Amino acid sequence: MRYEGSVYRPPSEAGSLIIQLTIGCARNACTFCSMFKDKKFRVRKLDDVVRDLEEVRRYYRDYYIRRIFFADGDALIVKTKDLLYILEETKRLYPEVERISIYGAPKDVLMKTDEELKTLREAGLEMVYIGAESGDDEVLRRVKKNATHDEIVEACLKLKKAGMVTSLTLISGLGGKERYKEHALESARLVSEAKPEYVGLLTLLVERTVPLYQEIKNGTFQMLGPAEILEETKIFIENTDAEGTVFRSNHASNYVSLAGTFNRDKAEMLEKIKWAEKNSAFKPEYFRAL
Ligand code: SF4
Repeated sequence: MRYEGSVYRPPSEAGSLIIQLTIGCARNACTFCSMFKDKKFRVRKLDDVVRDLEEVRRYYRDYYIRRIFFADGDALIVKTKDLLYILEETKRLYPEVERISIYGAPKDVLMKTDEELKTLREAGLEMVYIGAESGDDEVLRRVKKNATHDEIVEACLKLKKAGMVTSLTLISGLGGKERYKEHALESARLVSEAKPEYVGLLTLLVERTVPLYQEIKNGTFQMLGPAEILEETKIFIENTDAEGTVFRSNHASNYVSLAGTFNRDKAEMLEKIKWAEKNSAFKPEYFRAL
């Protein structure tokens, strides 16, 4: 098994077999992200990917592998015919697998036709994780996300049409003090329009190596404090209308742990925020992590 560099996966893939289909991120420009800055993007040779799948199968001969996740950054960029081949080999080697998922950028989804996505779904690809980060076009432009609000919504709806499950990630605090309201309101509008099955809300943590750190240093970006982050989250939850969307904000980066299902649990989550605000019950900075 040849993992190259640091390997990242969504929190909900903690127990999954992770296979690198690509190395790095094809865009790799987001100003807040340090994940793949040390890697030059490439699609791995398919034979190498299959060799990894075979090797793990030999090693875990008697294990029941329930979930498989394909990394790195935007593995859905791989050509459909190659993805179909990898999915076929995955199912051959792991007939017991219950869920196969992948990271994908909105443009990766939009580059594929409805027919291609449907074929991928039929071949076993069930879930796509999309890092939306914000629904606000100005925030998306500033952080160099290379996607717009409308593109993200269109990508989610396209996946839904193909029968795939979407998990969308947002980052609280990404608008800074200047655009926290727009960030919250537009993200709420994004989720209300896209109605993904899952939404994960992380909280911004900035490492010294990323361009956003320089913006903080020179004063062009002002970070939100914990109370302001909660205020932003409150606006987001209040304005989201996405019946049935499962919401999680219980990542290591979050100041307060929240979980619920829209719209059913909105009042309960807002109550929890109110309590945390009143009691200043925020996770200490030294416990927060990416
Ligand atoms: S946030 Fe996602 S798209 Fe942006 S650089 Fe990081 S991995 Fe690539």
